Amino acid sequence: MPLELIDTGGVKPVFVCDYCDNEITDAFDGNFQWNYPPQDVKRITDIKFLHKKCTKLYSEKFGIIDCSLGMENLMVYLLNNLGLTTERLEKAYESALITSQL
Ligand SMILES: [Zn+2]
Repeated sequence: MPLELIDTGGVKPVFVCDYCDNEITDAFDGNFQWNYPPQDVKRITDIKFLHKKCTKLYSEKFGIIDCSLGMENLMVYLLNNLGLTTERLEKAYESALITSQL
């Protein structure tokens, strides 16, 4: 499972690499990858999260994955899709500082 919660005395959500099982700590050091779906499929649920250095190793072991984008792009898409504008994101960040392990 690439999105996990780590118990650090609080809850710390992290992305974990599907190849090496280590936390991805830098968005610019990770990719999310998926295979191009058949024409009638509208939802893709099999998404892999990989360190960029692990992408080739993963493909050699499990097969090539068709599509890939950097995790920094994923975060922008998710922020946009969740309506987290810069102002709202700042409020959420302040709230998270109080309640979590940022
Ligand atoms: Zn990795």
